[in-house]
Amino acid sequence: MKYSEWKSGEVFVGDVPIGGNNPIRIQSMTDTDSMDTAATVKQCISIIKAGADYVRITAQSKNVAKNLALICSNLRKKEYSTPIIADVHFNPDIAEIAAGNVDKIRINPGNFAGKEKIKQRLLPLLDICRHNGTALRIGVNHGSLSNHIMMRYGDTPEGMVESALEFLRICKNEGFFNVVVSLKSSNTREMVKANRLLVRTMQQEKMNYPLHLGVTEAGDGEDGRIKSALGIGTLLNEGIGDTIRVSLTEDPEKEIPVAIKIAKNFSTRKHPVSEQKRLFFSLIQKMSGTLFNNVGNIGGNSVPVVISSLPVNKYSVENRPDYLFIDKEPEIENYSFDTKLIVPYALWVKLQNNHNNLFPLLTTNEFLTSGKKNKDLNFVKIEHDTDPDSIIPAAKGRNIVYILELQPLREPSCFYEFLKYYHKHNSLNPLIIRKTYNEKNHESFLIKMSGELGLPFLEKVCNGIWLINKKNKTHEKTLSASFGLLQAGRVRISKTEFISCPSCGRTLFDLQKTTAQVKKATGHLKGLKIAIMGCIVNGPGEMADADYGYVGATKGKITLYKNKIVVRKNIPSEDSVNELIKLIKENGDWRNL
Ligand code: SF4
Repeated sequence: MKYSEWKSGEVFVGDVPIGGNNPIRIQSMTDTDSMDTAATVKQCISIIKAGADYVRITAQSKNVAKNLALICSNLRKKEYSTPIIADVHFNPDIAEIAAGNVDKIRINPGNFAGKEKIKQRLLPLLDICRHNGTALRIGVNHGSLSNHIMMRYGDTPEGMVESALEFLRICKNEGFFNVVVSLKSSNTREMVKANRLLVRTMQQEKMNYPLHLGVTEAGDGEDGRIKSALGIGTLLNEGIGDTIRVSLTEDPEKEIPVAIKIAKNFSTRKHPVSEQKRLFFSLIQKMSGTLFNNVGNIGGNSVPVVISSLPVNKYSVENRPDYLFIDKEPEIENYSFDTKLIVPYALWVKLQNNHNNLFPLLTTNEFLTSGKKNKDLNFVKIEHDTDPDSIIPAAKGRNIVYILELQPLREPSCFYEFLKYYHKHNSLNPLIIRKTYNEKNHESFLIKMSGELGLPFLEKVCNGIWLINKKNKTHEKTLSASFGLLQAGRVRISKTEFISCPSCGRTLFDLQKTTAQVKKATGHLKGLKIAIMGCIVNGPGEMADADYGYVGATKGKITLYKNKIVVRKNIPSEDSVNELIKLIKENGDWRNL
């Protein structure tokens, strides 16, 4: 059975079931001190009012685990029945206390050593959960795999899957099925791969535990939204995922509308996904990693290009498109920017001798019937009525780049039909996807676009993007989103990548303020990955492949990392951004603006 034919089982978290045919459940996590009952209750209520189905609270000590009873009872007194989840980065003693006080426990298997030890420690917890009707989440994070998993698999998707399965197999053998599982990473590619592999492996081992999806340390603003929607949306599109948490470095209640928008695109879930979708996904995976022909600077080993049809030329350095589409002659005459231009074929025929860097966009009919072409590069637009059998053989081996006008990927007929023939004819002409949206709200646009268009970039079966949002006149934002999607899919790096945790009850400094300061100071260091993590307990592990790490050590003190190595300890927080800059300079990674 293919993973897209898989259907999860149903698990009850309090009175709110998850998995099966239930809607995708939304959750977030408090960032208050979990011993501050009033503040935590207040924040739970804000998260619930924003639309969460569940609220998670950090339980980092036995006292906190005990205090969860008080938090829950205060919420119930105020008539909030939303299930509460305790987040325990596995300390069995804490988990056992918390399991008696909440509706679900999340444990991180990363701290466990050998199989016997896992069993010995997990069985008493399962008994308590069974007795209290408490659900369990086995929550694996890419950056905090246990030593024995790391030694055998490294920090790979296989390692993440095995880390979860060690626990899931015990649950299955014990007949405990009230379990949810998650494999999270800040790297969208790894997160998607790991979850697909998990589902395939669960199918083989006859398990159907529901999946909790999330991209960890996604950051804030546009980048955080694109990364989350890309990772989560891609999997939901494939029928994988039952509950989602969007991890933003923003107030927890702000995560909820983003998660709701992601889930809304999948409100009518079908299990299994349609036959056509299944064929489409399997074709995309078959084509994964195709080395396309090089035409101009498109395809081959080049990064995906960005095309824009913005009627302005106010681009920032990092957001300058590779090609600009212009369809009016006067605009071309007035255009002084040195970006390459794409123009309709008829205009190209008229102006070709007057301009360098001018390339034609042909309809399929123009391509098949006209004699004259650009000697280096021609774009051919593929629409839903194109006959692939006539165009693909004729374009094969020539300097043609396809512009695929997409229908929504959720009904991927147009894309699928073209790819099917493209694959059949062993074509290697580069492919660029173009999609037009009508979204007034920029956040909705980011979320929809990232969920729909992420897959071809994650699988590297696409050589460029051309986005249009007709309802949003802030064209620079559409262009920025194109670069953001490529960066989130790790196929083209055009800016600094910030990996910042969402904060929780363990956070030791003002994460939002500090993230803004670090971004301001280092946002021009294209290609560097900088992590800003709230605590030293989980931060260093979870910042995964960051080049530099800024991590809370104790209240008011910061530790700096180069890769995974501590290089400065206990720096007063007021000096720490400057110390980070010094460290980047010492390592030769600094550039002036
Ligand atoms: S890194 Fe630490 S502070 Fe940040 S979310 Fe994870 S546990 Fe909480």
